[in-house]
Amino acid sequence: MSEYWYKEAVIYCLDVETFADSDGDGIGDLRGLIGRLDYLARLGVTCLWLNPIHPSPGRDDGYDITDFYTVDPRIGSLGDFAELLHQASNRGIRVMIDLVVNHTSDEHPWFRSARSSPDSPYRDWYIWTDSEPPDRHQGMVFPGEQRETWSYDRTAKAWFYHRFYDFQPDLNYHNPRVREEVKKIMAFWLQLGVAGFRMDAVPFIIELTEPGKNPCPMDFDFLTELRQHVQWRRGDAVLLAEANVEPDRLPGYFADAGGSNSRLHMLFDFMLNGRLMLALARQDPEPIIEALRDTPQLPRGGQWATFLRNHDEIDLSRLTAEQRADVFAAFGPDENMRLYDRGIRRRLAPMLGGDRRRIELAYSLQFTLRGTPVLRYGEEIGMGDDLALPGRNSIRTPMQWSRAPNGGFTSADEPIRPVVDSRDYGYQKVNVTAQRHDQDSLFGWFERMIRTLRESPEVSAGTCAHIDQKLPPGILAHRADGSTGTMVFLHNLGTDDVRVDLSELYGEADDPNQVFGDRDYGPVGRLDALDLAGYGYRWIRLCRNPGT
Ligand code: BGC
Repeated sequence: MSEYWYKEAVIYCLDVETFADSDGDGIGDLRGLIGRLDYLARLGVTCLWLNPIHPSPGRDDGYDITDFYTVDPRIGSLGDFAELLHQASNRGIRVMIDLVVNHTSDEHPWFRSARSSPDSPYRDWYIWTDSEPPDRHQGMVFPGEQRETWSYDRTAKAWFYHRFYDFQPDLNYHNPRVREEVKKIMAFWLQLGVAGFRMDAVPFIIELTEPGKNPCPMDFDFLTELRQHVQWRRGDAVLLAEANVEPDRLPGYFADAGGSNSRLHMLFDFMLNGRLMLALARQDPEPIIEALRDTPQLPRGGQWATFLRNHDEIDLSRLTAEQRADVFAAFGPDENMRLYDRGIRRRLAPMLGGDRRRIELAYSLQFTLRGTPVLRYGEEIGMGDDLALPGRNSIRTPMQWSRAPNGGFTSADEPIRPVVDSRDYGYQKVNVTAQRHDQDSLFGWFERMIRTLRESPEVSAGTCAHIDQKLPPGILAHRADGSTGTMVFLHNLGTDDVRVDLSELYGEADDPNQVFGDRDYGPVGRLDALDLAGYGYRWIRLCRNPGT
């Protein structure tokens, strides 16, 4: 077993508001989530990542916070949250929460005070300038929905900085009091028992913004400071960060100049995400092979978090224009499926035409490539999206539990967001109740896949390498090596049935056998004639180290 729990975790991301409503007000809540923990335990989830749970006007789906020290009353109380931690822990499930501290809501009492007077004790908690900044239209994250990054505030009679929407003023990390406050927020939630934080927008937190200055200096040492603080408060707590930056910038987020993992434990692998989409679109493993080759080596303790879908659009901005065009053509052919010119606002199942073979292939790839897998709620049953909803809300619809009205998410007539009701992905057809009784369902497949993964800790905790041999087109072969043994994986991204020869590896093998796959292909023999159907995949154990 690895000494790092997060390397063997299966993380499940959900928004409490859209997961399960226990009191019939149309909004999912903590009690509802507690009632579904057995379901998550059965699926094999070992850690939850909750999208923001704090009070918020909800203009950016909770990523605009007005109080960091409690939970939004609409989802329950702090008492309910403590109960969730207790009940989850009883089932061996840890809970991480989103830490959104690049900015606050403009309705946060700190900002209200800050804008009210230059003498406010909170004035310097935000980033102000008296004259119009020359770069006020640069650096926007939501082009089309956002006009500028510096806005004039009539009350304050000054310009304030906001990397995201204008109702999300950035906190000023030049200010030591802000830094101390963030540590206090972290300590508060760690004391309650969270297992760590999904840190939102980290590159912008450590950017020391100054008007007209581009690029601004980056304060990586603050990450070291946060890591030390967190580790003193709870030794096994984890920082999982969103930092969608160029690959050569990534190492600094994990390690200091000495190369030790003194900063963040985990980063979402945005590079792999884009390349996986490209590989699936082109039915060609080359982009994945490039990703494996190009991503930097991590220091001991560092780990990638892999994902296919999250709560945002699929961000294709790190692909070339030509690559992006291929992904759009395959998975987002209509303008309405795209967002901010760089992304796709669809769930995976509809992107893959609802083709069960391709959905399994995609998730088998994600779960076997290096890193800790993160799964977005509803993906395990193949939920669809609702493109009639604006922006990213298309993929933020309520969980589909059953055939009951509103998919069993709520007993209210009006759920927080409409439940998907389409012919192919509506709750009548795609729901948990139907799938949990059906071993052949996608849910049944996820259960078996995750169980197999748990028996193979080398997959996420070990090393991952492309097997560089001449293979038929469309085939990716990779291996995972760890103290527990070695596994080999074959994935066929194309539609043709093929036969693969991996006999060069036979010398390393000790009674090799297939432990998981899209079908039973019979004995693997000497690895010299491995059949693989179109969109097929095989997990083959080469050897297991005894005593591990
Ligand atoms: C989150 C988004 C959010 C933004 C602003 C992102 O990184 O994932 O959903 O809109 O931060 O907080």
